[in-house]
Amino acid sequence: MTLSTQDLKRLEEKLRQQAKAIERSMLTAVEQGRQTVAEETQDPADLAVTAYQKEMLFSQGTSGAGQLSLIRLALERLREGSYGECIECGNRIGEKRLEALPWTPYCIECQEKVEQGQLEPVAQRHVA
Ligand SMILES: [Zn+2]
Repeated sequence: MTLSTQDLKRLEEKLRQQAKAIERSMLTAVEQGRQTVAEETQDPADLAVTAYQKEMLFSQGTSGAGQLSLIRLALERLREGSYGECIECGNRIGEKRLEALPWTPYCIECQEKVEQGQLEPVAQRHVA
């Protein structure tokens, strides 16, 4: 099972669109955060809610940034020709898995290890 040039083109397009969507939603989250701060009242109960909302928006932005770095990594690997191989063990990632999660750098086995904390997520290694 290998990905054809057409498959790769289609996945690349998917990745680019996803990156744009995340960039847009991150901007929206930042703008909403600013508005929330501007509308702050002095009621302690309201302040607690506002703090919670800010935290939610912040965590949304952070996970967006994490996914964005995975998408950039995937686009980089598309150019290098290593796309579709697990970054950890070198096995081929299933076509269906790539269709569903085109930015994933892992095969299903390594993904499970990352989720269980047995492997350090690659996105964090790249940011650091
Ligand atoms: Zn693997």
